[in-house]
Amino acid sequence: MTSINPDYHAGRHFLQIPGPTAVPERIQRAMDRQVIDHRGPEFGALGREVLAAVKTVFQTTQPVIIYPSSGTGAWEAALVNTLSAGDRVLMVETGHFASLWQKMAVKLGLAPEFIAGDWRHGVDASAIEAHLAQDKAHSIKAVCVVHNETSTGTTSDIAAVRKAIDAVKHPALLMVDTISSLGSVHYRHDEWGVDVTVGGSQKGLMLPPGLSFNAVSQKAIAASRSAKLPSAFWGWDEMLEANKTGYFPYTPATTLLYGLREAIDMLHEEGLANVFARHERHAEATRRAVRAWGLEILCANPAEYSPVVTAVMMPSGVDADAVRDIILKHFNMSLGMGLSKVKGKVFRIGHLGDFNDLSLLGTLAGVEMGLGLAKVPHQAGGVAAAMTYLRDCAAQQSASTGATRIAA
Ligand SMILES: *Cc1c(COP(=O)(O)O)cnc(C)c1O
Repeated sequence: MTSINPDYHAGRHFLQIPGPTAVPERIQRAMDRQVIDHRGPEFGALGREVLAAVKTVFQTTQPVIIYPSSGTGAWEAALVNTLSAGDRVLMVETGHFASLWQKMAVKLGLAPEFIAGDWRHGVDASAIEAHLAQDKAHSIKAVCVVHNETSTGTTSDIAAVRKAIDAVKHPALLMVDTISSLGSVHYRHDEWGVDVTVGGSQKGLMLPPGLSFNAVSQKAIAASRSAKLPSAFWGWDEMLEANKTGYFPYTPATTLLYGLREAIDMLHEEGLANVFARHERHAEATRRAVRAWGLEILCANPAEYSPVVTAVMMPSGVDADAVRDIILKHFNMSLGMGLSKVKGKVFRIGHLGDFNDLSLLGTLAGVEMGLGLAKVPHQAGGVAAAMTYLRDCAAQQSASTGATRIAA
């Protein structure tokens, strides 16, 4: 006689939260090594290689600092290295993560000014321009924005923010959080004139949690020489000095650096442009599924739809967390929960990292079955709509490459 063991799940877990994302086996194997002496010659070679290679992901020729921390640490590093107590900073309320960064600025003794948002839109560059235009004395020292607001599935136009700052000839530093977009969404640190780009390892970079990044401009480094907020662990000066020879001022996350080297190799093997196009394709397929279900996408501006995460609104009276629970229990898939303001109102489908058409279709099938089991009012056919779109994309690809033309 057999009975079902509800705690046992065959097959792999679907980790479809918008980070941490599933770590590919290639990266797991790259990290499965003995830990080496972080002051020895073997480490120096690894350090030099990784510190140079990581710049390509930020599209920069300037230094990228790597911390053994979660992304939150790199947020703090960006602020404490460049600013002084009481400095005005301009931030934009795109959602939960922008709000957390703003709260951190308050805790550090800065004076953030927060442009209010409805959690359904990205950064309005014209509002930044108008705000900075009022600051004739240039007492605002930094503009801090989130590139991909992971809590709402909204991506902001960073080049437009740069233009807005330049339009009023304001000298404020531009700091951008790319924790959930780096390695998945088109991003250019140098070309867009970003002074500090904040990144993390566990989302688009396909690594476990534990590494974070500050890509820094010469202007940011100059600001760090006169900044007065205390910084010790996060200090750029000692990092930049030690990094010159491939080393770190304290013990780096050696194992994760092997993984980072492999992740960068994978991104370039596929080609960054192809990686970004793949994320765009999966996001479009996901939105077609959501629309076929008759449900609403939280991001209200199609030009700002996130390539990496889609937040799906539940009809009023439906608890999004109950739907997520059912999907986890029956199909062993984790979806992102609604955070703070949108808790229980949305769930989020992460479609980033090491991900392909069939992993997306499995994900969407789990959601569609979950909507049915949870008795959420919806129409069937979301998975079918996504399949049609992905099939058409594949057909287009065959036509353009001349490959696999089977039938006339
Ligand atoms: C995940 C995330 C963070 C927080 O990073 P941690 O690694 O959890 O500290 C900050 N900002 C954005 C946009 C994120 O997606």
